[in-house]
Amino acid sequence: MADQDYYEVLGVSRTATADEIKKAYRRLAMKYHPDRNQGDKQAEEKFKQIGEAYAVLSDDQKRAAYDRYGKAGVDPSAAGGFGGRGGFGGFGNMGGADFSEAFGDIFSDLFGGGRAQGRQAAGPQAYRGNDMRFDLEISLEDAARGREMDIRVPAWDECKTCHGTGCRPGTSKKTCPTCQGAGVVRMSNGLFHVQQTCPHCHGAGQVIAEPCSDCHGTGHVRTTKVLQVRIPAGINDGQRIRLSGKGEPGTNGGEPGDLYVEIRIRPHEIFERDGDDLHTDLPISFTTAALGGEIRVPTLEGDTRITLPEGTQSGKTFRLRGKGVANVRTGDKGDLYIHVAIETPVNLSAKQKQLLRDFEASLKEGGEKHNPRAESFLDRMKNFFRSDSD
Ligand SMILES: [Zn+2]
Ligand SMILES: [Zn+2]
Repeated sequence: MADQDYYEVLGVSRTATADEIKKAYRRLAMKYHPDRNQGDKQAEEKFKQIGEAYAVLSDDQKRAAYDRYGKAGVDPSAAGGFGGRGGFGGFGNMGGADFSEAFGDIFSDLFGGGRAQGRQAAGPQAYRGNDMRFDLEISLEDAARGREMDIRVPAWDECKTCHGTGCRPGTSKKTCPTCQGAGVVRMSNGLFHVQQTCPHCHGAGQVIAEPCSDCHGTGHVRTTKVLQVRIPAGINDGQRIRLSGKGEPGTNGGEPGDLYVEIRIRPHEIFERDGDDLHTDLPISFTTAALGGEIRVPTLEGDTRITLPEGTQSGKTFRLRGKGVANVRTGDKGDLYIHVAIETPVNLSAKQKQLLRDFEASLKEGGEKHNPRAESFLDRMKNFFRSDSD
């Protein structure tokens, strides 16, 4: 009995196509499924054999080995270690992916629904609600100072028509036809027996007979909720604030998910942020750069003044300590870096141009002391060309 030919077990010819084998397996598996033959030992044995036969014949490689060597060619105990496939490690050798896929098909056929959610435990299942993400765009000023803010997020309310039951008014839930109210189903692939949460009622044991038309049987409806978010001072782009329990509601009494508010900081007109530091370009005229003096510079807390030394060069950086952004964890303030950008005057009148030419001539008389960089650069250029021609 145990050594029955796999083709005979499935009732197909040795030349049967993969499709014929699959069909035969489905038909027989449904017929001998333990849920339909409670306590019937013979049916259980038969179901085991069908599973074993299908595991081999549905796999091209195993089927070829079986055709040549018989069961010795496909003996699971003769093969190497079990391949880990998620929680179904032990099934790896028995027919691989084909097997569990076939099982998924069988479940769809039997129950008209999807697969169970990977939960193995028995009993009514409470499902935690999904986490949600909400993108919140804020200004750099708000991020630096921190503030409270109201946000409007999609949410779910109990359906007023059915008061959250999901049943059409005047109807009630009925016993799940798939598991007869047990909340679990048993399945077997021939060697292994698995008790699984019923995929139809998700373990509740009851299903909705006539769904409420307003919420389609879910018991809740979509709405918008206003939530208050406290944005901590110093928060940065991409950081998230968790609002515990403000995500999607759970099912069967499961706890709700969390809402993650992800911060997006709008680009600022003046400042660029780098961690806790701020950077800004400060355009100044070349006369100011040459003569020096007090100039106004922007900070997040308003204008301040700095003294520019005479002869300030383009690219010079001034650091204003503590004028950056407070660190979100430590509260220590970063710095503000001011990068001097000397602006070349444009749209000059004939008179201004003449003044500049006269000015340039007077500079030439002074030699390298007026243009230290240009002079040393000229020297280096000369050296460069000389060594190049050597
Ligand atoms: Zn059920
Ligand atoms: Zn409803």
